[in-house]
Amino acid sequence: MTVNFMKNLFSIVFLLLIGCSASKNTNFLELDYPVNFKVIKRAEWGSISIDKSYKTHEIEYITIHHGGVEFTDQENASQHVKNLQNWSRSEKKWIDIPYHFMIDLEGNIYEARPINIPGDTNTEYDPTNHVLIEVMGNYEIQELSDTQLKSMIDLTKYLMGRFEVSVEKVKTHKDYSSMTVCPGKNIYKFFEDGTIYEALQEK
Ligand SMILES: [Zn+2]
Repeated sequence: MTVNFMKNLFSIVFLLLIGCSASKNTNFLELDYPVNFKVIKRAEWGSISIDKSYKTHEIEYITIHHGGVEFTDQENASQHVKNLQNWSRSEKKWIDIPYHFMIDLEGNIYEARPINIPGDTNTEYDPTNHVLIEVMGNYEIQELSDTQLKSMIDLTKYLMGRFEVSVEKVKTHKDYSSMTVCPGKNIYKFFEDGTIYEALQEK
């Protein structure tokens, strides 16, 4: 082998290594949703890309949250998602919005943190391996509409199929933490009375 050949070989291997490490940072898992889903993708609401390195996880659980702050129809949902992204990064120093999906008052589903990156929490449970779905608003005070409930069930059911999550692994934040009432009594009642579990088990 000539010296030049060896030099070229080293350059190629080096470039391949650089290429691999650079792509690691943008390796978000993108989902193909059913056509009837009202999903607003990250690019559509203007998400700012993640520029830090991050760990990834496998999905085993689906966990429901509320925002905890009252949300009214006077507010703009996509601006709310943007504001939460800014706050999460600048104040909390999290890599992104703590949740993977956010549902607005009309049942629109916003993609938030990429699903293959573990979420964040202010409480004592470890959200690794959980998909975190948040409903905008405070459901200790607000009522959940039928449209919101339907979106939450449809999204959960789709994710259960996509990631082979069994119905026993679909729970709420307060099932894992004594520090919170999240997702609020007006969402939790649909878990307690079996409405959500029945719908999830329907074929
Ligand atoms: Zn929560």
